[in-house]
Amino acid sequence: MAANKKLLMLPGDGIGPEVMGEVRRVVEWMDARRHVSFDIEDDLVGGAAYEVHKTSLADETMDKAMNVDAVMLGAVGGPQWDNVARDARPEAGLLRLRKEMDLFANLRPATCMPALAEASSLKNELVSGLDIMIVRELTSGTYFGQPKGMQTYEGQERCVDTTAYTHDEIERVVRAAFDLAIKRGKKLHSVEKANVMETGVFWRKIATEVGKDYPEVELEHMYADNCAMQLVRAPKQFDVIVTDNLFGDVLSDCAAMLTGSLGMLPSASLGAADESGRRRALYEPVHGSAPDIAGESKANPLATLLSFAMCLRYSFDMSDDAAMVEKACANVLDVGYRTGDIMQDGMTLVSTQQMGEKVCEELNKLAA
Ligand code: NAD
Repeated sequence: MAANKKLLMLPGDGIGPEVMGEVRRVVEWMDARRHVSFDIEDDLVGGAAYEVHKTSLADETMDKAMNVDAVMLGAVGGPQWDNVARDARPEAGLLRLRKEMDLFANLRPATCMPALAEASSLKNELVSGLDIMIVRELTSGTYFGQPKGMQTYEGQERCVDTTAYTHDEIERVVRAAFDLAIKRGKKLHSVEKANVMETGVFWRKIATEVGKDYPEVELEHMYADNCAMQLVRAPKQFDVIVTDNLFGDVLSDCAAMLTGSLGMLPSASLGAADESGRRRALYEPVHGSAPDIAGESKANPLATLLSFAMCLRYSFDMSDDAAMVEKACANVLDVGYRTGDIMQDGMTLVSTQQMGEKVCEELNKLAA
């Protein structure tokens, strides 16, 4: 049994520890039933780290994150840390992880499990079976560009954010998106606003250049505002979408809600591969720490379990096991189990832990 799969677990705050507990349950199942062993370390992030270290990510934790194969994160934040200095706030720990691990490609799948198609704000036929992957540039663009902040301009206050991208920053994320598209539906939409933004023109030029290396992938350029409209008009036209940090933030949330609930949405953030081929990676649910239900066993653990499935697929090259975890999550919904956030008439309400147990029961059936 090879125990060389190094995983750092950072449950964080609020419902983070609860949903991560269910990942641990599935890891134990894999250990027992699939003979896959993980080398797991636990540590603190966010408010939990602040309480101990007065910083939301200790240097030792950062070092660990740099030296494992993958990091699984629960969620950070909570009202009790709202007045903490900005650089020690829970979110700062997450931003530091993303920045220092150089996680430039944020993968947000928007898949609509048939059992939940009714929960979407769109008509069933528009979303049932939906399977989109949004790739958002995560380490540059408007959120990081300089200058940033308050200035004095013609005698009055002015506030500035700057959108700036280097050639390499665009090329690497576009290439990552082509690499995904080639393994999926071979269709890539590159999204910007080349009609009004210089960075958009640059982005479009580079996407076109990179596309020459992927002749089998159909590349289409689309303006971000049109993409937002198309996502709610006819979302199934998309396979993979690649876009910058700001547009990606908005469009991925928009696509996410096509699928029903925050409690169902996984994500992966990937960095560059090193010489040994290992890619730094962080996996986390899209939702936050949900302080309103923390500690009540009401949290839906499926987003975190589906994030773990992405971890199996992208960091450990275990596509079959990833597919099995995804199928187990879908089956649990098909047979009618629901946490409160996705509850529907006639279904059976379960707790966080019961949902995890049901997923393992389905895994047992799938592995039989
Ligand atoms: P949130 O995602 O935590 O919660 C929004 C709503 O969705 C709440 O009603 C919550 O109960 C519900 N919800 C979220 N996840 C759920 C789940 N798995 N199961 C069932 N219901 C779920 O967003 P918020 O309330 O805006 O933020 C709360 C805290 O989380 C804030 O401190 C915020 O900064 C932080 N946050 C962290 C992350 C992250 O760690 N990546 C992301 C977003 C927000």
